[in-house]
Amino acid sequence: MFNKILIANRGEIALRVLRACKELGIRTVAVHSTADADAMHVRLADESVCIGPPKASESYLNIPQIVAACEITGAEAVHPGYGFLSENARFAEIVEAHGVKFIGPSAEHIRIMGDKIEAKRTAQRLGIPVVPGSDGAVETEADAVRMAEEIGYPVLIKASAGGGGRGMKVAKTPDDLLEAYNNARAESKAAFGDDAVYMEKLLITPRHIEVQVFGDGKGGAIHLGERDCSLQRRHQKVWEEANSPALNSEQREKIGAICAKAVADLGYAGAGTIEFLYENGEFYFIEMNTRLQVEHPITEAITRIDLVNEQIRVAAGVGLSVTQADIEFKGHAIECRINAENAATFAPSPGLITYYHPPGGLGVRVDSGVYQGYRIPPYYDSLIGKLIVHGRDRVECLMRLRRCLDEFVVDGIETTIPLFRKLIDNQDIANGMYDIHWLEHFLETKPFD
Ligand code: ADP
Repeated sequence: MFNKILIANRGEIALRVLRACKELGIRTVAVHSTADADAMHVRLADESVCIGPPKASESYLNIPQIVAACEITGAEAVHPGYGFLSENARFAEIVEAHGVKFIGPSAEHIRIMGDKIEAKRTAQRLGIPVVPGSDGAVETEADAVRMAEEIGYPVLIKASAGGGGRGMKVAKTPDDLLEAYNNARAESKAAFGDDAVYMEKLLITPRHIEVQVFGDGKGGAIHLGERDCSLQRRHQKVWEEANSPALNSEQREKIGAICAKAVADLGYAGAGTIEFLYENGEFYFIEMNTRLQVEHPITEAITRIDLVNEQIRVAAGVGLSVTQADIEFKGHAIECRINAENAATFAPSPGLITYYHPPGGLGVRVDSGVYQGYRIPPYYDSLIGKLIVHGRDRVECLMRLRRCLDEFVVDGIETTIPLFRKLIDNQDIANGMYDIHWLEHFLETKPFD
């Protein structure tokens, strides 16, 4: 096992990783920008290194500084968390070239999954169901016309280098096609420096369902069930549930087994998430994330398995602590992402937290790096914490979540907690009846007016 791990991240996820390290008896190194000198992950780490000014490009994304911090402190491994450098194949290569273990899959696997055309091809080869569409890039207008006829309208043009929903355009009819195609290429070129695009059938009312997988790097793999992340705003997840209200255990086992087998065949090492759109009983692969996800705690809640502990074990070569047969799904869990934003307008609201009282009690987990007297810097993502609630079934989970939302006090800044208080009162939410567009439609009804 490692003696010392450097955590190349900040906020709640840095703290999350630090906790797993402490429980394994591993010493921790925090890195931080000058804006984060007072952050909780810095205070709780055994050592800390300042790696640059507030701007992420000069600190949390600064590879030479992070490698230097490893060398200075003698860290044997780096955990990248999510975001920042977590899906940067080059970073994985560089740290390993310096004799430091990257806690995550191989650079090759990160690279394959980071290129959406390549990822989709790989998924298909491994027996994962994909969205009907072009086989590879659509290189000319003539090909686009032919492909769209073949797939059937409406179609979606997507950027191969895409992320965050950018470079995606819908064509509802042949009249929209060339404009959508050319706009997607131009947007992708501008955002990612790459104008390769591909085409897919547009699914109309899908849910977003993702499967948590774990590879041991030696040809073995398991799945830990799914998460339903359909409640999204601008392609950003807001509320996640495990299990999905839309699946039964037979469907769960079936898609889980397909994903575990694919990951095993790939020889994948560590945690991964295979994301699907789900419509009319069918799964359609959209992408694979080769890292820990924000919403991983709901999987931890229903499986009682510490995913970061497992990531560290796999990276250290100790192997997973569980087999597929050990994994049982118990109860229901929901996560609410709490952002420092106005709940009605989503305008960022950084600043000083003057009072802070998180909820507690049975089945309640709050992952957050904030505390009373902490000043949220304006430079980073607005996620300040996650409320994760577990119940024996979905009804108990919802009742507990309502109680927790009533208890939660964050003063001095605005948060998205009031939005969750609205959602918990909604009948569709109570029934688990929502697709990926539900939240946007709900917000159009101006729930705060
Ligand atoms: P990105 O990496 O840019 O986030 P994804 O491929 O993960 O791109 O897709 C982002 C979101 O776009 C999905 O969660 C879904 O809401 C929507 N989407 C993607 N592909 C399709 C499709 N074929 N039909 C309908 N919606 C889609």
